[in-house]
Amino acid sequence: MATVKGLRERLRDGETVVCAEGYMWELERRGFVTCGDFTPEVVLDYPERVKSLYEEFAWAGSDVVEAYTYYGHREKLKAIGREGDLESLNLKALKMAREVADANGCLMAGNICNTTVFDLADPGTVEMARGMFKEQIEWALKAGADYIIAETFSALTEAKTALEAIQQYGNGLPAVITMATYAYDVTLEGVPLPEALRQLELMGADVVGLNCGRGPETMLPLLREVKQVCKGPVAALPVPVRTTSAEKSMYSARDPRDGRLVFPEDVACRQCSRSDIRQFAQEARRLGVKYIGLCCGATPALLREVAQVYGKKARLSKYAPDTSRSFYLKAGASESGLTMRAFMFGEKDAWP
Ligand SMILES: [Zn+2]
Repeated sequence: MATVKGLRERLRDGETVVCAEGYMWELERRGFVTCGDFTPEVVLDYPERVKSLYEEFAWAGSDVVEAYTYYGHREKLKAIGREGDLESLNLKALKMAREVADANGCLMAGNICNTTVFDLADPGTVEMARGMFKEQIEWALKAGADYIIAETFSALTEAKTALEAIQQYGNGLPAVITMATYAYDVTLEGVPLPEALRQLELMGADVVGLNCGRGPETMLPLLREVKQVCKGPVAALPVPVRTTSAEKSMYSARDPRDGRLVFPEDVACRQCSRSDIRQFAQEARRLGVKYIGLCCGATPALLREVAQVYGKKARLSKYAPDTSRSFYLKAGASESGLTMRAFMFGEKDAWP
């Protein structure tokens, strides 16, 4: 196994970490995940697709290969009748992540997430969630994960349970804990998110932050508050979706044409542009966000924008946007180039 600098050491030395998330969403876009239950059986059905997406994100500039075990937990697999595949699915996703990480000098992160069994009104579900975290953490440990990401929690209690499980069963592995952000600036318990993250930090999480749900425009204001309350490294991984103060998350986003809610099938009509993502990454960097990435909707090209702003040079950097060689866009374009440009862009009222 290649030796790469650990997460704690990087953060201690003031380095930044770019982490690609959003495997589920991107594989759905490619036709390999069911839009609706969003379970990751593609890991066993078409493993090479998952592995190649790991590579694409690593080549685009991710410092981390996050094992695609999101919703690969007992409850979700039970719901699709594949509980028997639980262990093999987790180990396969982790093994491929380790291979791609080693081949590219990346860290490999195990992943746990909201369990969907946790119920604030039923304290018994805390232990059910803990058991689900335990088995996935143990598989991640067995597969040689460098740290564990616990993500998209709405309830602080569930996030704390995940952190405790990492501390209890993770053999000292670092923990990155991110809460999901939707319409409100509080957890399911009503705790303001900055305060919730501070509590997780005080419990010993290596990185705390926000992921999923909100786009850059509505995550940034909350992120500023988080930065004032938290003392350690903060994470930000929004969805690349154009959210607004009236439609704060991709769940409340509506189609600009007819006002219908777009989640889950039509979120693409609100997709952020490359410039949106570039500006978000610049602002996050200014704010001092050390752990950065994108969640659902991320593509290698968008992740590359983040990586570039954070100064990462990657295999696919050479294909970053560049219009300086375009025959009709470049400065000093020829007469025929300018004619084509006018024709294509509709620069005249009529043609010829
Ligand atoms: Zn997401």
